[in-house]
Amino acid sequence: MEPIKAGNLTIYPIILDVDHKLKSFNSYLVEDGHSLSLIDAGMNKDEYWNLFTNTLHTFGFEVRDLTGILLTHHHFDHIGLVNRITDEVAIPVYAHKKAIPRLKRDPEFMQQRVDFYTKLYEEMGCGEAGSKQIDYLLNAIEKHKHTAIKAEIMPLDKQIHGFHVIEVPGHSPDQVAFYNEKAKVLFGGDVLIDHISSNALIEPDERGERILSLIQQMDSLKKCSQLSLDYVFSGHGEMIDNHKNLIETRLDNVEIKASKLLTLIKDGASTASEIAQQYYKKIYELQFPLVMSEIIGHLDFLEVNRKVRTEKVDGVWRYYSYE
Ligand SMILES: [Zn+2]
Repeated sequence: MEPIKAGNLTIYPIILDVDHKLKSFNSYLVEDGHSLSLIDAGMNKDEYWNLFTNTLHTFGFEVRDLTGILLTHHHFDHIGLVNRITDEVAIPVYAHKKAIPRLKRDPEFMQQRVDFYTKLYEEMGCGEAGSKQIDYLLNAIEKHKHTAIKAEIMPLDKQIHGFHVIEVPGHSPDQVAFYNEKAKVLFGGDVLIDHISSNALIEPDERGERILSLIQQMDSLKKCSQLSLDYVFSGHGEMIDNHKNLIETRLDNVEIKASKLLTLIKDGASTASEIAQQYYKKIYELQFPLVMSEIIGHLDFLEVNRKVRTEKVDGVWRYYSYE
């Protein structure tokens, strides 16, 4: 792909197209005359490594020319090549401080997450589907142990390599965006994706309490909407040249979906699990954690806007309409 010039930046996109709803896995080499940053590090696959090194070589660079890796968030599809790169060259890896236990796969932190989801799924009335997901999670912790990032991770400050670091939590608690004011570009990771709405995944905070992820995601989108931007470079799909309109659509869609859930509640569905099953049908089982994040997030939205009230009955939260 051809480089893109923006202000004093030259951006070399590394885009691996996939036949999947995410469309592509994107990372970006960004040169500003002083530094050559890699923003996100794609998938841990030979195919991605080849694409990355070919992009470097095509434009006259080597892996050793990199000055740092900047991570937008800790998800596996954004950090894939980090270990492979830092095995070759000792360059700093930067991420939000909340990403560190996640990237290191800190055992204590991982256990705290398991406890959090166990309690959450019980309280949301998920039964069998919830226990299955916990088994899956326990398995995944074991299976993905080796993917922990080996290099020391430097917590991001307010500025890095000419970018303002903007906290945009919601999709994940550690999600940041890198903003270059002069070039009018934002590297947003998964805060805003052109072709799909980014999931606001349910996560615990440091104390193990549930974060209101969707509310956070909406605030983060509003924050991005204020920025003067020509382009948003996302973690997936095409680059975005109309961020304000797209953000408005995403925010409107939350209200539309929430009002559909409110109808289900008025019709008698009361636990998050019941609402999820009625809304998502078969997808409830197939994409359980995503579905529960969506439903709980939109129920939070209804609750914050005083459309529903909650009551815990026999350890399970029930949602009731005020009307
Ligand atoms: Zn992603």
